[in-house]
Amino acid sequence: MRILIVGGGPAGLTFAACLLEHGIEPVVVEKAARDRTGGYSIGLHVNGWRVAERLGLIEAFRAKAMPLGPAHHLDRRGRKLFSYDYRVLANAAEGRLLAIMRNDFHEILSGAVEGKCPIRYETTVVALDDDGAGVTATFSDGSTDRFDLVVGADGYRSAVRALAFGPHEEFLRPLGYRASAWRVSLARPLDASFVGMMDVDHQGGLYAVGDGTAATLFCWRDERTDRLDPDARRAILQKEFGQWPEPVASALTSAIDWDQAFFDTVSQIEVPKWSKGRIALLGDSAWCLTFLAGQGTSTAMAGAYILAAELARKSHVEALDSYEARLRPLVTRMQAISRKIGGHLIPQSTFGMRVQSWILPIMLSRWFIRLTSGRLAAPSLELD
Ligand SMILES: Cc1cc2nc3c(=O)[nH]c(=O)nc-3n(C[C@H](O)[C@H](O)[C@H](O)COP(=O)(O)OP(=O)(O)OC[C@H]3O[C@@H](n4cnc5c(N)ncnc54)[C@H](O)[C@@H]3O)c2cc1C
Repeated sequence: MRILIVGGGPAGLTFAACLLEHGIEPVVVEKAARDRTGGYSIGLHVNGWRVAERLGLIEAFRAKAMPLGPAHHLDRRGRKLFSYDYRVLANAAEGRLLAIMRNDFHEILSGAVEGKCPIRYETTVVALDDDGAGVTATFSDGSTDRFDLVVGADGYRSAVRALAFGPHEEFLRPLGYRASAWRVSLARPLDASFVGMMDVDHQGGLYAVGDGTAATLFCWRDERTDRLDPDARRAILQKEFGQWPEPVASALTSAIDWDQAFFDTVSQIEVPKWSKGRIALLGDSAWCLTFLAGQGTSTAMAGAYILAAELARKSHVEALDSYEARLRPLVTRMQAISRKIGGHLIPQSTFGMRVQSWILPIMLSRWFIRLTSGRLAAPSLELD
């Protein structure tokens, strides 16, 4: 079976690695250059962890993991609101939790597939013609090729979805926020794994990477979903967070490489059916959960694992149906949880902020963490 994977992110590269395990050699096309992978941190939770174990990659991920320790939340004047400890969260997940920079994650996954299947960087698809017997793909360099199956693993603004399923806006469920994330050098080390600040409709902070740099993450209420150029992005960040003290202040004035950074609307993707004929969607292109639940990478990896396993033993029609039937309940649940977490993390009033400052440390304490995880973490998926 000849499979084209569009997108070499967590979903696409995990899918390629899993197909290779089944003796299927895919072709991957990736829009970005080899080392342009996004300068923000991502988390690996139980489902991604188990896939990484099966691919023999978990030790490589652990070796690059960011330090897990206390997280401090402050108000916008720098006064402490509450703290909790990521090690408590990791214990509740029986140790199957780590945070890693996306470029390290990408390096490990691409190392697992490079040389074993073609990866064409700086290439995308511009047309897909599914005639029932196969799909003819036309690439951005003008070449064409024919495949039995095309899988769009090309993220939130998926070109495959736009070409084969319909316009982006048709599948969008905006959550009413914008977010931005990039990597900064630190003048002084952070005194915690995470130092965050919150205010009504705002949340911003820095995650220590452990090498003198930090990964920022800013999120604020903004109903608009249009794309902005770098100058407009800077202006918005300055308007929303410009008066905040250290460590946010230095992060805001740091140089930002927008090819690596993230800046976009926080919106979920809802596609009624993830496949159409011989074209299927996987990961954020099919179901973007948003970063709010911290489960997008792991769910993408689990989806990749399941889709590869189904394709290895069934016809593409049956495999695509089983893949969706096995994954859809988890995705629906995690999308609902993401929406709920947004309300917890980004306070909507001063009163709400006070309540959250009181409730969150209790929810995340070692006495209540199992109850909280049971309600908000992804359940372990049956992979076999
Ligand atoms: C700031 C931030 C923090 C996050 N934190 C977490 C976290 O802590 N835990 C977690 O689990 N998840 C987190 N997520 C979510 C997670 O990053 C995504 O869910 C995950 O990356 C989805 O993987 P994907 O491969 O489906 O899509 P993407 O990561 O978007 O990868 C898509 C790939 O396709 C490529 N591409 C795009 N368009 C095309 C095209 N037209 N042609 C070819 N290639 C294309 C892109 O360059 C990219 O390499 C976070 C996301 C953000 C933005």
